Amino acid sequence: MCGIVGYIGNKSLDSVLLVGLKKLEYRGYDSAGIAILNNDEISIRKSKGKIISLEEKLDAKGFDGHAGIGHTRWATHGEPSTKNAHPHTNSTGSIAVVHNGIIENYVELKNMLSEKGYVFVSETDTETIPHLIDSEIQSGKDVKQAFYDAIQKLEGKFAIAMICEIEPDRIYFARNGAPLIAAFGKKSASESFLASDLPAIIPLAKEVTYLKDGDWGYIQAGTLEIYQGEKKYENIKIEPILIKEEEVNKGDYAHFMLKEIYEQPDIMQKIIDQRIDSNNRIFFNEMLFQNDYLSKIGRVIIQACGTSLNAGLIGKLYLENFCKLTTDADFSSEFRYRNPVIGGDTLVVGISQSGETADTLAGIHEAKAKFLKVLSFVNNNNSSIARESNAVIDLMAGPEIGVASTKAYTSEVLSLFLFSIYMSAIRWVLPKEEKKQLLDEIKSLPSQIASILKNLEPIQEISNYLKDVSSALFLGRTYNYASALEGALKLKEISYIHASGYAGGEFKHGPIALISEEVPSIVIVPQGEIRKKTISNLLEVRARKGKIISIITKGDDEVKDISDFFVEIPELSEPLSPLLTAIPMQLIAYFTAVYRGCDVDKPRNLAKSVTVE
Ligand code: GLU
Repeated sequence: MCGIVGYIGNKSLDSVLLVGLKKLEYRGYDSAGIAILNNDEISIRKSKGKIISLEEKLDAKGFDGHAGIGHTRWATHGEPSTKNAHPHTNSTGSIAVVHNGIIENYVELKNMLSEKGYVFVSETDTETIPHLIDSEIQSGKDVKQAFYDAIQKLEGKFAIAMICEIEPDRIYFARNGAPLIAAFGKKSASESFLASDLPAIIPLAKEVTYLKDGDWGYIQAGTLEIYQGEKKYENIKIEPILIKEEEVNKGDYAHFMLKEIYEQPDIMQKIIDQRIDSNNRIFFNEMLFQNDYLSKIGRVIIQACGTSLNAGLIGKLYLENFCKLTTDADFSSEFRYRNPVIGGDTLVVGISQSGETADTLAGIHEAKAKFLKVLSFVNNNNSSIARESNAVIDLMAGPEIGVASTKAYTSEVLSLFLFSIYMSAIRWVLPKEEKKQLLDEIKSLPSQIASILKNLEPIQEISNYLKDVSSALFLGRTYNYASALEGALKLKEISYIHASGYAGGEFKHGPIALISEEVPSIVIVPQGEIRKKTISNLLEVRARKGKIISIITKGDDEVKDISDFFVEIPELSEPLSPLLTAIPMQLIAYFTAVYRGCDVDKPRNLAKSVTVE
């Protein structure tokens, strides 16, 4: 959460920082601010709300310099306001700091600093940092030592960038549990960048170094120094940036979310091409676990949050049905604290689009403290979760910017499916014929998704109806129970309509009380073994005059006839059907939000990449 960007070089600073912040806005949009060093003097502009209101304040001439830092905030301590917006400074304004994360001991630090006479003007935990650095400088230390000693005193998770009038040619940084990268532009440009994430600095930055927890140091124009504790890195790993500009821009689409929905056929194709060969052998070349280990796993616990957990719930069914492996799927935040009974042959699986989800990372730490092996599915191989797991599977979805996850979800489901088929071969569980049939079928997935994307009319008609309701229910069974949860999550996060997903069989045990003419049910009822049972749930709704929106396999006239609205999806066997049922639900949520005038890519109170627990 929150986005940090820093730049030192010859380009127009306010525009580099502003463009960077706009690209990071998916990480938080409660407030934004920029601090610039010009002629050894720091000037600051900040504003409540989205970057656009900061932009208006930058129109004033003379706001430029040679080094600067910017921040887009997702408030944890103190309401969204200009006063609480970053950068925060010491009392004289000679030190400016931007921060991502939470300083857990800020109350103690604030008390200690207040006793020394430091006056706080904001309600944030962040403001302790510039005062703390100031107090270290006042005790006679140079800036570098003061910065290091100050960060030693901070508890919690953070990424920090700091500029200081005494050393105007450097931007200091520290990373501990929140993402931060350092980067360089073209060799001739003699410029350096800091950012929470790569999209902020593409296309200007050409090379990157991924900072690790405990790293701190400073960037200067075209160079940097990194320390781990007191030890300076002699060799810094610098890699070329391979992401292309079009991958982090909206292109002709109205929103990132829509672009990402439409990218799904290509991403599914890419995963299929890279993972399955013509003889239906599956490959996970990057995954470091040997078959010998995988064959001995006795139990799997999947731990994830939000959309990734919904994918994990489907993964649980894959591992149980195709590999006969006892599998649980748990919220990371619960897994971590409920102290489950776990045997040594348990594999813990973490799933996270960003690879930085704080709860999932904490779950991984918990698993490792119990000496368990961890396999993670992430969309960023340079992320904290990727680094801290014993083995990693790349989701290959490309940068996902829309706050509501779409393409990462289907990549997660497809990757979990292929992984379970891979495991089933190692464990000799799935009959050859069944495996062949499933893999032959999955090859038609990209074109099937593309066909759904071509027929928006029924979806838009449904959204036009949904835009006026205040509550909606989603029902599904077995593989599509998690689809119901995900459909409800998509609708509520971007359209703010209250929505809940239920397992069809559970419906009569309570939620059915909610049914009325005003509360529609979206029933996921593709062909398959469970279809008849789901139709019973649908009839239960209808008997109580509830409106029915059904997601059905093409040509299912029986369900069509008892639905008020329906969307048809192509024929695919039941275990694979969540990969298709997800698409109309993503689009229904998208158009409903658009028709309600909601900001689809920046839903209120949410931020992409939840890096606080
Ligand atoms: N804890 C800080 C605040 O509330 C930083 C939050 C963030 O990561 O945006 O301002």
